[in-house]
Amino acid sequence: MLTIKNLNKTYPNGTQALNDVNLSLEKGMFGLLGPNGAGKSTLMRTIATLQLADSGTIDFDGIDVFKHPGELRKILGYLPQDFGVYPKVSAKMMLDHIARVKGITNSQERKGYVADLLHKVNLYKFRDRNLGDYSGGMRQRFGIAQALLGNPKLIIVDEPTAGLDPLERNRFHNLLSELGENAVVILSTHIVDDVTNLCQNMAVFNEGKILVQGNPQELSNTL
Ligand code: ADP
Ligand code: ADP
Repeated sequence: MLTIKNLNKTYPNGTQALNDVNLSLEKGMFGLLGPNGAGKSTLMRTIATLQLADSGTIDFDGIDVFKHPGELRKILGYLPQDFGVYPKVSAKMMLDHIARVKGITNSQERKGYVADLLHKVNLYKFRDRNLGDYSGGMRQRFGIAQALLGNPKLIIVDEPTAGLDPLERNRFHNLLSELGENAVVILSTHIVDDVTNLCQNMAVFNEGKILVQGNPQELSNTL
């Protein structure tokens, strides 16, 4: 599955954001728990091949990620912390557009695919509403739909629940749990409860280092 070996990253200003990170993940939900500034986003962006490491390797199902970023991106779903939306475009139009770019060329097939996706994230009712008029929770669910296009085998979700009300968070969590049944899902967050409620496997991360890794129940007294 996902194997990270000896990953290091120091920013030009001298901040060491990744300090010899080693990690091996199977299918399911993995929680990366750490305070702001721990290096979580750096790690997420590096796995997503949006940023280079100074040294180390990442392998996903036999793909050397740094050598073949294009291969990785085909099977990757990435939900960044802050993602922009085109405010004057509807969810349906946007997903249809991305699906076309991702290679679903038949418009009937695309229509069905996009409708399924909108049902899945509970936005079908709001499919024609412009993204700029979505609530925070709806926007997050749209982000998930976007990340799910193409049935990714590796899904990265960076600090997802900021600004969501409890009901929206709940919905979002249920959706994430479903995803873990068929993919490696990495959830990066500073919220302990999100990890203990959702993840089968977790690590505590700080100053670019994994401090402990294991089952959230086993680790609960160290959190
Ligand atoms: P987290 O996502 O856990 O908040 P980050 O990966 O964003 O952590 O940041 C880790 C450390 O690296 C922080 O000290 C942050 O200020 C620093 N950092 C992040 N991005 C950059 C950058 N582009 N240039 C310099 N320092 C950065
Ligand atoms: P987070 O760490 O929660 O993702 P930040 O506010 O640290 O959010 O980072 C937002 C953006 O600014 C990121 O793209 C990050 O790479 C960049 N950044 C963060 N810290 C620094 C820094 N000290 N110098 C330059 N860029 C930074």
